[in-house]
Amino acid sequence: MNSAARPAPPALPVTYDDVAAAARMLAGRCHRTPVMTSRTVDERCGASVFFKCENLQRGGAFKFRGAYNALTRLPAEQKRRGIVAYSSGNHAQAVALAGHLLRIPVLVVMPQDAPAIKVEATRGYSAEILFYDRSRDSREAIAERLAQQRGLAVIPSFDHPHVVAGQGTAAKELIEDTGPLDFLFVPCGGGGLISGCAIAASQLSPGIKVVGVEPAAGDDATRSFHTRTLHVVEHPDTIADGARTTSLGKITFPLVLHYVSDMVTVTDEELLRAMFFIWERMKLVVEPTGALGAAGLFEGKVDARGARIGVILSGGNADFRQLARLL
Ligand SMILES: *Cc1c(COP(=O)(O)O)cnc(C)c1O
Repeated sequence: MNSAARPAPPALPVTYDDVAAAARMLAGRCHRTPVMTSRTVDERCGASVFFKCENLQRGGAFKFRGAYNALTRLPAEQKRRGIVAYSSGNHAQAVALAGHLLRIPVLVVMPQDAPAIKVEATRGYSAEILFYDRSRDSREAIAERLAQQRGLAVIPSFDHPHVVAGQGTAAKELIEDTGPLDFLFVPCGGGGLISGCAIAASQLSPGIKVVGVEPAAGDDATRSFHTRTLHVVEHPDTIADGARTTSLGKITFPLVLHYVSDMVTVTDEELLRAMFFIWERMKLVVEPTGALGAAGLFEGKVDARGARIGVILSGGNADFRQLARLL
C-alpha cells in the first residue's frame, strides 16, 4: 500500500485493514453507489467536485454499511439471540434491513413521537419496535436493560469499530473511482462516518484534507476538534436530525483528532439552501443532514478553489411533509 500514508498509532481502534475487510464483507451486499458530477457546481466552486451518492444506498443512507458489517461479524450464538439499537432515524432502518437480510432478530428502541414514515420503514424490514417517552426515559438505559434481560448485543450508530470500518468503505469506493483528491467534505454527527472515511482517504489519497461539517446549533465536534477536549451539546436544535448527537464517542473522538484536517459548521439556512440546490440542479433527493458536506463546500467555509474535491451525500430519507411545512 502507500508508504506515504501516515501510520496509525497502535492505540487507535480502527485501521485501514479494517476498512478493507469491511469492503470485502460488503461486496455484493451494499450498493456501490454512483459518483456524480455537475458542471454548474464545478463553475460555482471553481473546482472539480465529485459527489458520492449515499442517498442512493440501501435503506437510503450510508448507515447500512456499518450496520451490516457489525451484524455480520457477531458470533453465531449472538446472531441467534439478536441485537438492540436505539435510533429514530437512519440507523434504525439500517440495522433492521441488515438483520432482515442476515436473519438476526432486531429490536429498535424509538421515541413515541418518531415520524410515522420512519417507524413504518423500520417495521417494514420486520424489526420489533419498542417505544419510549423521551420526556421520562433514557433510551440508552432502556436498551441496556433489554440487552441484559434478553441477552441482546447493543449496536450503536457510530461508536463501534465495525460500524466505523463499514462507513469508511464509502470513501474507499469514491477514491477508487475518482483517483486522488485534495479535499473530502463529510457530514458529522457522532463521527462514525467521518472517522471511517478519513482512515480510508488518508490511505488511498495521502495528503488529502478531510473536512467535517456540522450544524452550527450542534457544534460539539467542531469545538472538541479545535480544543482537543470532548465537548457535549445537549438537544441541539437543528433541521439536520441525523447530526443531533450530543458528542463524539470514545472511539470516534481520537480518530477524528488524528485523521481529520478541519471541522466547520453551517447554519440551518445554509444547509437548506444547499439541499434545495442539489434537489433542483442535480435532481438528487438528499435529506438535510445528507447535504451538510455540500453546504460546507458551497458556502466557502474552506478555500478549495482549483482543487479536486469529494463530497459525501450521506442520506436521502427526506421527510417531505416536514420540509414542505418549513417552506
Ligand atoms: C447518521 C447520519 C450522519 C452522521 O453520521 P455519524 O457517523 O453519526 O457522524 C450523517 N448523515 C446522515 C444522513 C446520517 O443518517
